[in-house]
Amino acid sequence: MIGLKEIKESVLHLLFPHICSGCGNDILPKESVLCMRCIEAMPETNFEWHPNNPVEKLFWGRLQLQAAAGQYYFTKESLMQRLMHQFKYKTNRELGMQLGRMMGEQLKRSGRFNADALIPLPLFPAKEKRRGYNQATVLCQGMQGIMDIPILDKVITRPQHTETQTKKGRIERWKNMEGKFILIDPAAIQGKHLVLVDDVVTTGATLEACGAELLKGENASLSVVTLCVASR
Ligand SMILES: [Zn+2]
Repeated sequence: MIGLKEIKESVLHLLFPHICSGCGNDILPKESVLCMRCIEAMPETNFEWHPNNPVEKLFWGRLQLQAAAGQYYFTKESLMQRLMHQFKYKTNRELGMQLGRMMGEQLKRSGRFNADALIPLPLFPAKEKRRGYNQATVLCQGMQGIMDIPILDKVITRPQHTETQTKKGRIERWKNMEGKFILIDPAAIQGKHLVLVDDVVTTGATLEACGAELLKGENASLSVVTLCVASR
């Protein structure tokens, strides 16, 4: 027999459809924005378990790291691309939180990322405002609950490029600013093992620039983690 509760739920569902962010079907586990089929189809790299994995190798000779990993392979026109689009441009915060929790679970299980704090790679302030959030911060918020370490999102900033830099060409100026970060609170990271987090790693140039600035902190050590790994 259908109870009042079920009827109420069905009506609510019609009004506020709770559908999978990956495929749009509505058979979701509780507290999830992804269905089991999509979760199982996510292409895990398992890099977190392996020293000298491709993401670690990417930073060899560029950045001194304790460990590095990217959780899923990113390919064009795939489930991961749809999820990234939802998360990055459609302000699907719930999805970002869930992906962050999934990352946190895997990192914790591997035992190779026992750090003191999470650092989201900063976005340019204007971009963050336009987008509604920094996607790296949302991932960190999901990871935080699982890894039980704080998020330090005010120790490093990314200065906005200004129109006063008119002497350089536009592209060159953009390139210069792309890799510019400023450590504003070195005391907050002194002696700490930090995990720098971003949504995707491709060439690693931006993560390298940000990481190098973080390593200016006295006795600070660094690991890097991304949601996706894209081929160059
Ligand atoms: Zn699905």
